[in-house]
Amino acid sequence: MPVHFLASMTWPAVRDLPPARTIAVLPTGAIEAHGPHLPLGTDAIIAEAMARGGADRLSTRGFHVLLLPPLAMAPAPFGSGFAGTIDTPAEATTMIVSGVVRSLASHGIRVVAIANAHHDPANVDALRRAASDASRATVGAVVVFPDLTRRRWAGRLTAEFRSGACHAGRYESSIVLAERPDLVDTRAMSALDANPRSLLDAIRDGQTTFTAGGGPKAYLGSPAEATADEGGAIIDTLGAILAEAVEEAIAAPGAAS
Ligand SMILES: [Zn+2]
Repeated sequence: MPVHFLASMTWPAVRDLPPARTIAVLPTGAIEAHGPHLPLGTDAIIAEAMARGGADRLSTRGFHVLLLPPLAMAPAPFGSGFAGTIDTPAEATTMIVSGVVRSLASHGIRVVAIANAHHDPANVDALRRAASDASRATVGAVVVFPDLTRRRWAGRLTAEFRSGACHAGRYESSIVLAERPDLVDTRAMSALDANPRSLLDAIRDGQTTFTAGGGPKAYLGSPAEATADEGGAIIDTLGAILAEAVEEAIAAPGAAS
């Protein structure tokens, strides 16, 4: 079955999809500082790659997939001190996602999967709340949110990601190199020293910004080691995670991912 871009379709085309076999995918990212080498829209780029990877898999298993435009405005307090970062209220994210689920359900499309690549705790919490609120408030809605910060999914990702040095480092830089090499400042990237500080530890210690958490240039990890090949492999895994979470949720509605 095909993958459709919702924003490119006409309303009759959406009306004519078989709702019970249609899954909507919402990529969620941010506009946030990502080192001196990656674009502010990095997380939206990664989220769209994950959404596409998941959609391709689901479509080969007989589903119609509707790819929604990415939600790029998000709470981003960690990066808020860096120029260009947009930090919006967490409640706004929760309300928008709930509204998306409600609207789609009113058209008969009841399964919405969130492909999230922005792991600021404020954003992850807002999405978690949205997923549970919307599942409760909208009869029959199934909101699938494979939270990559959970051990189950993180265990499938790279060592750097699991270490918590996962902001604009090797992991994210590799994905952007695979997806949008034109937006990577490779000269700046190859000159960056490794910064093995863990954001997870910083968060546990109560830090709330990249600077206080050991990332004064808005990156952690080892961006200079990034490769497009690794990025392609990670996208593949992200797509597999999304498709798996959707299939599980459909098989056992109400189960958390
Ligand atoms: Zn990021």
